[in-house]
Amino acid sequence: MAHYTQRHQLTLIRRIALYLLVFSIIFSGMPAQTVQAQGAQMPVYIVRSGDNLWTIAQTFYTTVDAIMAANQRTSADVLAVGDRLSIPGFEGLQGLLTTEYAPLGISLISLSRRTQSSIAALARLNRLTSPSELFIGRQIIVTSREDGSRMETLPALMPGQSFMELALLNNQNPWALSRMNLLASSDRGLPKDTYYAPSDKANPSALAIPGVQSITLDNQPFRQGYMWVAKVSAEAGVDVRASLDYQVLGNPRVSAPQFFPLPDGSQIAYGGIHAFADPGVYPMHFSFTTPEGAAYTFDQYIILRDAFYEADPPLNVPAETLDDANIEAEDKLFDALAQVRTPDQLWNGQWIYPTQHPVCEKSYFGSRRTYVGSPGSFYHTGLDLGYCGGTDIYAPADGKVLAALPNQIVRGNVLVIDHGLGIQTIYMHMDDFNVEEGQMVSQGDLLGHIGNTGRSAGPHLHFQVDVDGTPINPRSWLDRSFP
Ligand SMILES: [Zn+2]
Repeated sequence: MAHYTQRHQLTLIRRIALYLLVFSIIFSGMPAQTVQAQGAQMPVYIVRSGDNLWTIAQTFYTTVDAIMAANQRTSADVLAVGDRLSIPGFEGLQGLLTTEYAPLGISLISLSRRTQSSIAALARLNRLTSPSELFIGRQIIVTSREDGSRMETLPALMPGQSFMELALLNNQNPWALSRMNLLASSDRGLPKDTYYAPSDKANPSALAIPGVQSITLDNQPFRQGYMWVAKVSAEAGVDVRASLDYQVLGNPRVSAPQFFPLPDGSQIAYGGIHAFADPGVYPMHFSFTTPEGAAYTFDQYIILRDAFYEADPPLNVPAETLDDANIEAEDKLFDALAQVRTPDQLWNGQWIYPTQHPVCEKSYFGSRRTYVGSPGSFYHTGLDLGYCGGTDIYAPADGKVLAALPNQIVRGNVLVIDHGLGIQTIYMHMDDFNVEEGQMVSQGDLLGHIGNTGRSAGPHLHFQVDVDGTPINPRSWLDRSFP
């Protein structure tokens, strides 16, 4: 009896082992997709309002069918906000998939440290073939932890400071922190590099620039003949520089404005983009220098869009106003005025229309122009306003009269008002002046009257706004307020 039982037990164990073997053979022989459908080795996306399977598939470079198969869904299933969908195609990645817009200073290594995903995984997630594809404003896919924990930027490692010191100062285990930041050991930290540590804050700073809390690029998308605005919050005494490289008629041009301190402790710069700048993708350079002299620089690509300026019919104007020598001498004078930089913002809030009639625009900014009898190609550097409702010209914003110059060959009787921070307004072809050089003016003050002086084909005001000497579309300032 005892023998029989033993034998029977042995047979049972053999049978179970055989079944297991057969099962494992069947499973290992099954197509990969079926295994994934059972397993939890796919990253998860949580459905948000406005999503549908098609947009989700588009975002994650997959198909509706693949998502349905991975989640054992049929077309009869309704997608609801908050549903968890396994996303096929990213095997080996775990956590929640989220999308965000590439912030300034981003690099694959910083993104890898912050999201705790490998560079290869991030490149695969975002179909990157080159790090330069991480340009500002591009939507990127990242993974985050299921438990909602986040990573935040640590203060910059200063020259002479060790990574271990940085870790201890921030209450972090140096070994865990170096592993988290993909360093082979805690003595491999580099000064000025960006490192991350776990954070319990709701919105930790993810900016990959040491010593800089935030950078905002305003007035996007950037367009030819418009301006870019950069606002930076950095530790006290950090010197900030930014410039945008773009091509104008085949020659590289750099618009490098100055950063000015604002009362709230941040710094702001207004940069003019030439109306002849070729649309395309260009590098924007940023450099930050700490009071200790540590410098940190990076380039980020931005898209410069076409503003679709039209061409005006050829214009008939007096020959002397097209004479190169005359134009050059006058331009020299105005180039010198454009160098003036007043470190205070003199304007306040929304600007107003400088003439009496609100919609009396005769010719727009940026239109391509030719003049009868001149081979040159020009563009219209301002907005031409007629005299539909009277001939008064008003100050659109507070400022200081920088120049009141009568009888210029091209510009006629011309007034220049400095609004501070590199912003100037210019009023051409005026009949007379009601203000004088050096005078402070307030918004709405009478500056003078519309005339027909200089290179003008009929009475009108040529209203121009220069940003660091580059004329930009005056509509920028009439349509919204800055900063
Ligand atoms: Zn004009």
